[in-house]
Amino acid sequence: MRVLVISDVHANYTALEAVLKDAGQVDETWCLGDLVGYGPDPNAVVEEIREIPNLVCILGNHDAAVMGRIPLETFNGDARRSLAYHEKVINASNVDFIRTLPANPLVRGQATLVHGSPRDPLWEYILNALSARLNFEHFETPWCLVGHTHIQCMFTLNTKTDRVTMDQTKPDITIELSPKLILNPGSVGQPRDRDPRAAYAIYDTEARTWTPRRVEYNIAEVQERIRAVGLPEKHAIRIAEGW
Ligand code: ZN
Repeated sequence: MRVLVISDVHANYTALEAVLKDAGQVDETWCLGDLVGYGPDPNAVVEEIREIPNLVCILGNHDAAVMGRIPLETFNGDARRSLAYHEKVINASNVDFIRTLPANPLVRGQATLVHGSPRDPLWEYILNALSARLNFEHFETPWCLVGHTHIQCMFTLNTKTDRVTMDQTKPDITIELSPKLILNPGSVGQPRDRDPRAAYAIYDTEARTWTPRRVEYNIAEVQERIRAVGLPEKHAIRIAEGW
């Protein structure tokens, strides 16, 4: 089975479209949360995601905020301003869809799917070998797929030495999977690894491979929409620079 793995679309419809087109034919799509937050297109993104056939989607912290499950005060100023706007404009049926998304880790075949981390699904950022190390005990499957940091990368647990290494995975270089790994497809709508191109991954369940990918999209068009609705300028600048 060929699986498209996406995360952190963050209301960036143009980036999402580019990824869906670039990925081509897939059997399933797994989305690791944060459909909304930051970007200008919360309704268009949720509507597009809802239409994807054979979709598995879990809840992100920004999604939880927009449906009123987490207070907006939990977020920093600029993130909060976007969420307040999203809360205002998002339509009832899109909120209903977000309400159906599970917050807890979801097991799909050989993989555990989660937004932040298996031990703290909505909030913990797996950014380094230490936080990864602490999480390897919290899932049973050979691999765990995470989002939330917006960094396309991989953590490997060497079961003999009990050591964890972090690798920034390279686009289009296919990785042969072996236990035990934590994999991050990167962010579709707001990459933070200095590569502004939209990030995603293709997971082949039979071949047991993972291919990180990047695709260019029209960033200027998204910046224009961010400015047109008066969202923080910071969100416009960062998508062009990838931070
Ligand atoms: Zn996010």
